[in-house]
Amino acid sequence: MDEFQTVIGLEVHVELLTDSKMFCGCCAKFGAKPNTQVCPVCLGLPGSLPVVNEKAIELAIRTGIALNCKINHEFVFVRKSYFYPDLPKNFQISQYRNPVAEDGYLTVDGKNIGIARIHLEEDTGKLVHDEQTGMWSAVDFNRSGIPLMEIVTKPEISSPQEAENFLQKLKRLISYIGVSDCIMEEGSLRCDANISVKRKMDLKLGTKVELKNMNSFRSVRRALSYEEQRIIEMLKEDKTVEQETRLWNETLQITEGMRTKEEAHDYRYFPEPDLLPFKIEHDLIERIKVQIGELPDEREKRFQKEYLLSSYDTAILTAEKEIADYFEKALSLHNKPKQIANWIQTELLGLLKEHHIKPGDCKVSPESLARIVKMVDQGTISSAAGKTILKEIFLTGQDPEIFVKEKNLTQITDTAEIEKIILQVIQQNQKAVIDYKTGKPQALGFLVGQVIKQSKNKANPVQVKQLLQKMINE
Ligand SMILES: [Zn+2]
Repeated sequence: MDEFQTVIGLEVHVELLTDSKMFCGCCAKFGAKPNTQVCPVCLGLPGSLPVVNEKAIELAIRTGIALNCKINHEFVFVRKSYFYPDLPKNFQISQYRNPVAEDGYLTVDGKNIGIARIHLEEDTGKLVHDEQTGMWSAVDFNRSGIPLMEIVTKPEISSPQEAENFLQKLKRLISYIGVSDCIMEEGSLRCDANISVKRKMDLKLGTKVELKNMNSFRSVRRALSYEEQRIIEMLKEDKTVEQETRLWNETLQITEGMRTKEEAHDYRYFPEPDLLPFKIEHDLIERIKVQIGELPDEREKRFQKEYLLSSYDTAILTAEKEIADYFEKALSLHNKPKQIANWIQTELLGLLKEHHIKPGDCKVSPESLARIVKMVDQGTISSAAGKTILKEIFLTGQDPEIFVKEKNLTQITDTAEIEKIILQVIQQNQKAVIDYKTGKPQALGFLVGQVIKQSKNKANPVQVKQLLQKMINE
């Protein structure tokens, strides 16, 4: 393996979060009945004229700034001609020589990976095939004309794992700045890759193979690993690697040849005559810069510095903007960063996952969580009771303090009451008491647990332990 060098580049397509399509006013929302969000423009009917969606341009510029790119002050749209049943005009409006942004980078594990370009285009329709009979195919043009942004990296990624890490980071960044929801299952983020492998001592670059049809970040990594091995085997046997496009077969976990270079398209790019070159004012770029605010990397660093949290904690808390916002809102009510962070990581995220709820749709408000943690920290309720409360109000969003009163969950701090329970427990567990007295300290833990249980989670473990020790030794 050490004898070889791998070079990977990625092409990421991202559907932009705009209300309407790229060149018409049709709704761009996912999931509507087929062909209900269409008009003469996105159906490519004769005589219809495109109008540029300025919001899409703003979002592409926002991405360019977040990826440290140079923003072009003037760019043009071109026609990329090819025939396919999901493309009603037989050409796609795209960009070629003058994209929205160029020459930036994204830092992944301390390494800057170059971004070659970011350009805007329109999405195609979607083909639906009858899989049972294989007798018909249909086209849904709802997707036709949805604003699509293509981000092309420089060939600077050096392993399949680094490619996956790059995609994770890119996804986080793009969702953070509100440019796309990046849901791979709904097709709002798609990725093609290219890979070449050469012997380290060879001066000439390896032959490039393109990979398509990966539908998760993990598939991208696996397809690249498979291809890396396939090429290395060929190089070892002195076989010629062909320049080709290959498809990832998810079921078989292999890549399969699709087309070679001889069959590659000639797209006959030429300037779109129905659209003028687009000019970007300096003010607009400045305005977008201000809007972007704090980026995830900056926020991660700030969390470490300001709240003295570990890099493990901050990575989880800043993985999604909604979680980071939630954390900071909860902190503003109960300023205990480590405690709030623990509750979010071990309790809240677990519940969200269990119920398949996105952080942004969480019914328990940051204020409610902060109040639960505060009640635990102040000793009003036990930590176990706090966890129960969070579970109980998770789906309803009920006020935690009212819940505590209704369910009578307030912690017992009255010593006499706890002593009564301890006496019972001592009587019922004579063996454990003797074990403890004869030098088995773990027996005490068992007894504390029994007292907490009998108190219905309302006794304070620290207090119980002290009283227990005192009473046994008397
Ligand atoms: Zn339309």
